[in-house]
Amino acid sequence: MNISLKKPEKSLTHCSATRCNEQMQCGTCGTEWDVDDTDPPECKYKLEEKLKKLRENYRYCDCTERFDIQQAIAEVQNKLNR
Ligand SMILES: [Zn+2]
Repeated sequence: MNISLKKPEKSLTHCSATRCNEQMQCGTCGTEWDVDDTDPPECKYKLEEKLKKLRENYRYCDCTERFDIQQAIAEVQNKLNR
């Protein structure tokens, strides 16, 4: 059986974005952005999930991967602080 899991895309990054006049708001993380913002902020909820996974990876990775994972963690943290 081939069930499509694709949901209608209201936003590329936010799972529950709703439109209110000229503003979009994410019901999951509360982030707001302009409707015509071509580069909306990423979902904080999703970023935090990603951060959790990265930190777990960091714990179990070998030393050759450490630097890459550290970079990725810093990047996600940057986005969260926007
Ligand atoms: Zn969101």
